[in-house]
Amino acid sequence: MDHILEDFLVMTEQGIYCSYGDFYIDARHPVHTCLISHAHGDHAIAGHGNVYCTPPTKDLMQVRYGKKTAGQFACYEYGNVFTVGGVEVYFLSAGHMLGSSQIMMVYKGVKYLYTGDYKLQPDATCMPIVLEKADVLITESTFAHPDTTHPPVEAEIAKLRDVGFNILLGTYALGKAQRLTQLINAHCPQLEVFVHHRIAPFHQVYEQYGVRDWQYKLYNRKALKEKSAGAVYMVPPMTFNSYIRAKNVIRVFASGWSHLQRGNALSLYISDHVDWHDILYTISQVAPRQLWTLHGNGNHLKKHFDEKMLVKAL
Ligand SMILES: [Zn+2]
Repeated sequence: MDHILEDFLVMTEQGIYCSYGDFYIDARHPVHTCLISHAHGDHAIAGHGNVYCTPPTKDLMQVRYGKKTAGQFACYEYGNVFTVGGVEVYFLSAGHMLGSSQIMMVYKGVKYLYTGDYKLQPDATCMPIVLEKADVLITESTFAHPDTTHPPVEAEIAKLRDVGFNILLGTYALGKAQRLTQLINAHCPQLEVFVHHRIAPFHQVYEQYGVRDWQYKLYNRKALKEKSAGAVYMVPPMTFNSYIRAKNVIRVFASGWSHLQRGNALSLYISDHVDWHDILYTISQVAPRQLWTLHGNGNHLKKHFDEKMLVKAL
């Protein structure tokens, strides 16, 4: 069996670094070469020299940061192999949002798989996750606690159906907002979706990539005033928090985090991350020899696998 390099990826001030290919992954500060898993702001910043990502990730980043997002983009579809430094790389769908990727790195016969953010729950606005075998799985562990179970999304979204008021729906502008639009259309067709002007440009990129089977309108004050019920006004978190005294609406925030549900009229546990059972399923499919954890607390995974597999925090 080929030898796993314990220092293949290391955590630096700039972010995750691979010295064998001289590149970073989802770097937090501008670097010369960066592989980007998806367009969320905590993974994709502006100012890198060379960026490797999928075509939708580039387009979504340019909506947020403009044309000068990076010195140069090299875009690859899922499964297309390319080389960075001496490392072979390809992207695999992560099921997290449009364009989201796991990053498979192959070096000296060993496969290192970085998950990025990922989910197993169905999402009609992006490709489903693809799970492949690897020697080392580098997994995000945001919700890696045995008590964490994300409820079925259909049951959660159905809570909006008979609210009897207009709904102010707080959501991340990218990824979650598009998934919610599709879910509300599909499960609560009697509700009319209005989106904030900071969300709509992301919807348009989704449409360019074939997500067209949905109904929504740009928010306008008049339309919402005329209706006393049946309208959902989707706003980004900052707007949601500034509308604390909004009248004649009920406040709902879509998230997997319970602390973001507090004080709202009803809870809406919709997450784009894996829960505990999803992580264990993913590990069973990837069947790694080692597990490296990232974001959050990897201790529960370490305990779960005990001596059966090496688990370490990156
Ligand atoms: Zn994300």
